[in-house]
Amino acid sequence: MNYVIEAEGVTFAYDEHPVVEDVTLAVEAGEFVGLIGPNGSGKTTLLRIMLGLMTPDTGSVRLFGQPAEGFREGERLGYVSQQSTEADSTMPITVREVVTMGRYPHVGLRRLRPDDHDIVDDALERVGIADLADRRINRLSGGQKQRTYIARALAGEADLLALDEPTVGVDADSRDRFYELLNELNDRGITIVLIEHDIGVVTEHVDTVVCINRELFHHGSPEAFAESDALARAYGVEGMGKRAPARKQQL
Ligand code: ADP
Repeated sequence: MNYVIEAEGVTFAYDEHPVVEDVTLAVEAGEFVGLIGPNGSGKTTLLRIMLGLMTPDTGSVRLFGQPAEGFREGERLGYVSQQSTEADSTMPITVREVVTMGRYPHVGLRRLRPDDHDIVDDALERVGIADLADRRINRLSGGQKQRTYIARALAGEADLLALDEPTVGVDADSRDRFYELLNELNDRGITIVLIEHDIGVVTEHVDTVVCINRELFHHGSPEAFAESDALARAYGVEGMGKRAPARKQQL
């Protein structure tokens, strides 16, 4: 099997507070994975560990078959964090400039060549923001910013796109169009791991649902997820979307 990410027995605590407990899961090349769980259930932490951005306390992570620690092909991983869309909002740079940054790992010390510019143009085109290329990033809507960061990852020729709640604050139509884009990119072979708070939306679009609340409650198809009691167990009986601790006694 061709795995992009292999996490094995991953555990992580902030100080003494355990957030991820003994999670083992793998993401195959070309898979579209939705990572769900209540607020504060460790999704962002697990995703960052899976991308090699944080080191687990125990367990191991492999990226493209190599140990995540010391992984040197960072441009293969396109990560759009919740913060990344805010970080640049005060900088007077254009959409094209942000997307061009995606080429830098490939360019190194040489100058940008015409083919680099072609790749940037193609990335802008593919995510549907070519008409915004010269607009400043701080003049964009949330959805347009997300597309800009995805275009940057495409310009970097990322094999994996990891997105942390990309459609928060986006209206339903824009969200549907955004998922159409993700499905198109996935059809072209890009692996996607996405954190999404709307369970109905995510299960409609992904191949695989990963449901966590500190521990792994489900890793499998949306259909198997719908038939299982993982949702109720992970979210607790207090109700969906509310913060609920993992309920070990129910396992
Ligand atoms: P989710 O993405 O599911 O909302 P997170 O992984 O962001 O969950 O957070 C899991 C838990 O860890 C939460 O209780 C959160 O408050 C805590 N946490 C997240 N980041 C930090 C940090 N840098 N330091 C201490 N605690 C943190």
